[in-house]
Amino acid sequence: MTSRIKISSEFDGGNISVIDATEPDNIRVKIPNDTNSKFLQWFYFRLQGGMGEQCVIHFENASQAAYPAGWVDYQAVASYDREYWFRVPTEYNDGKLVIHHQPEQDSVYYAYFAPYSYERHLDMLAWAASHEDCITDHIGETAEGRDITLLEVSKTQGLAKNVWIIARQHPGETMAEWFVEGLLERLFDESHPIARSLLNQCRFYVVPNMNPDGGVHGNLRVNAKGVNLNREWKNPSKEFSPEVLAVQKKMAETGVDVFLDIHGDEALAVNFVDGCQGVPSFDERMASLESIFKDAFCAVSPDFQTEMGYTPDQFGEANLTVATKWVGETYRCLALTLEMPFKDNQNLPDEIVGWSPERAKILGADVLYPLHQIMASTAMKAED
Ligand code: ZN
Repeated sequence: MTSRIKISSEFDGGNISVIDATEPDNIRVKIPNDTNSKFLQWFYFRLQGGMGEQCVIHFENASQAAYPAGWVDYQAVASYDREYWFRVPTEYNDGKLVIHHQPEQDSVYYAYFAPYSYERHLDMLAWAASHEDCITDHIGETAEGRDITLLEVSKTQGLAKNVWIIARQHPGETMAEWFVEGLLERLFDESHPIARSLLNQCRFYVVPNMNPDGGVHGNLRVNAKGVNLNREWKNPSKEFSPEVLAVQKKMAETGVDVFLDIHGDEALAVNFVDGCQGVPSFDERMASLESIFKDAFCAVSPDFQTEMGYTPDQFGEANLTVATKWVGETYRCLALTLEMPFKDNQNLPDEIVGWSPERAKILGADVLYPLHQIMASTAMKAED
């Protein structure tokens, strides 16, 4: 009997290569490399013909992933409707990642994390632009000609603090754009006192997707040129990192008082931030702003914590090629990389969905509280 199993990935963000899909209980696949790059980890594909079968999917090159530690205690996500994503039994043994799942429907999608499609990105920009406090600004194009769109959100025309938030430099870290969606929903809530207060004193500059080329190609880490944008901030180039150049040019016009760079971490099962300790201009004021932010975030969200994170020297002598370090050094401001898990928050786990779009959106909405604390702090006011 010939197999009915069909695996496909020719769609936005899709990424898999099939070795053998003859037997449902012994499907063998490989994760293709990112475009022009040696990185690999993101996968997203559709499986048809598996309804009622005990499907076993072996990822044969999982040990060559960018972060093999990311597979330990990791559960893949699946969805029938591409709206609701749930976790499926997954194990990592002898360098192979294996999913076990008995699909309830003929067509099912599997992914590294709930995808955030390019079409959804465009829908989000259109939705944001429909709010009276928001305008969109075309600041540049990617290597493949996709728009880099900046959202400017404020209620004031006067003097304001400039809050920059960027997401998805690493395109496979889709939770970053879910986070931004939640943040914008809260910011546009006309009844919310924190949102109103912030919009009266700040101008938000939000880039929801720094790397749309990489997202469409199903990359984990790089753009269409094979470049990791978060190592380009010291010397961005028109050819290899136009996305970073566009943002830096606009930053030079507006100035930066607060910078958040939103990411996902493959290995650590917590939410955390990484700051600017170690950059040459790091001083008491920057240190104080970092601790105000962390304390306020911990107070408002049990999904945030400060016990686990990167060691202060994770990026060498505060590698200024990294966005947060470069912005912190250049603008002497509060600059933080915010990392969410691909796995789950181990301090508040959810067996069914793990870390999810819904939870990333709530964290994005809640980040307005620490930002509000920052604006009220003497360290911020002292600057006026
Ligand atoms: Zn990242």
